Amino acid sequence: MLVAAYAGGGRLRLERRPRPFPGPGELLLRLRVCGLCGTDLFKLSASAAAEGTVLGHEIVGEVSIAGSGARGPAGEIFQEGDRVVVPHHVACGECSFCRRGSETMCPVFQENLLEPGGFSEHVLVRARAACGAAWIVPPDVSDDAAVFLEPAACVIRGVWRSDLREEGVAAIIGAGSMGLLHLLVLRAASPGVKVIAVDPIAERRGLALRLGADLAVDPGEIGSAAAELSGGPGADAVFDTVGGSRILAAALRATRPGGTVVLFAHAAPEERAGFDLNFLFKAERRVVGTYSGARREQSAIRELIASGRLDASPLVTARLPLSRIDEAVERSRAHRDLKILLYPEG
Ligand SMILES: [Zn+2]
Ligand SMILES: [Zn+2]
Repeated sequence: MLVAAYAGGGRLRLERRPRPFPGPGELLLRLRVCGLCGTDLFKLSASAAAEGTVLGHEIVGEVSIAGSGARGPAGEIFQEGDRVVVPHHVACGECSFCRRGSETMCPVFQENLLEPGGFSEHVLVRARAACGAAWIVPPDVSDDAAVFLEPAACVIRGVWRSDLREEGVAAIIGAGSMGLLHLLVLRAASPGVKVIAVDPIAERRGLALRLGADLAVDPGEIGSAAAELSGGPGADAVFDTVGGSRILAAALRATRPGGTVVLFAHAAPEERAGFDLNFLFKAERRVVGTYSGARREQSAIRELIASGRLDASPLVTARLPLSRIDEAVERSRAHRDLKILLYPEG
């Protein structure tokens, strides 16, 4: 099978590998599509992957072989040809982190349960992912809508961590694919929330407005936009999908007393934050990190997608065969696209 493996030095290499065979409880999927994600780009540019690693984790596949006894989360029996979406990270559900609601901090959470990874013609799904989180996609849900299950679960975890209320005001910094996905998840899950999209690119601001943002502004106007929509005090929650200390400072200034900034982006390892701590202490603001999404988030997103309330397929701007993954990476880095989907040859 064809895979795109990390070749070191920020580059990918196409190679052929033997197709894996599923053991008990596992699934072998024929890839239908795999989304190229900001995390993949980050790992490439930071060389944060071992050579030979196959990245890619936003997959929709078709069951080609179900291992003996493979069952889904509700006891589903997988049939050949079932379309399945499955996340690569699944918590154990039993350890002290899981029991305290920090499932994404579970010691086994970061294990990659997709072998070798999503940028591969065939993907083996480990038993914990198959039985804990695999979703048989309903026939009326497109691959393009279903492929957002994993990233949208990450988004809703951050939304929940922000304690944003239904009548609140949210500002989203960055209207790239993750920023716009925040907008669509908020629209689907909390339709009463007013949303400001913040991006320097006019075309992206226009798209944010078409996708339902109440306001779309240049980064220099975030504070005034938050004051305008909130009637003065500022945003209840600011979601930073860009990252970095300068943006954090701007996000804090746009947040009302008692409000929350959610960090939803990698920062460069040398990046340090500098701001007046009284901004938090005296004004009860919070800065919270959010990492990935767990079963609770995944099942909430499954319901939103299945009901048609969340359809992020307008964010798909290109599809390319796996053999042209270099082009997909280049296009993503050039900010010419939102979500790019890769598909196997033929
Ligand atoms: Zn992702
Ligand atoms: Zn655990």
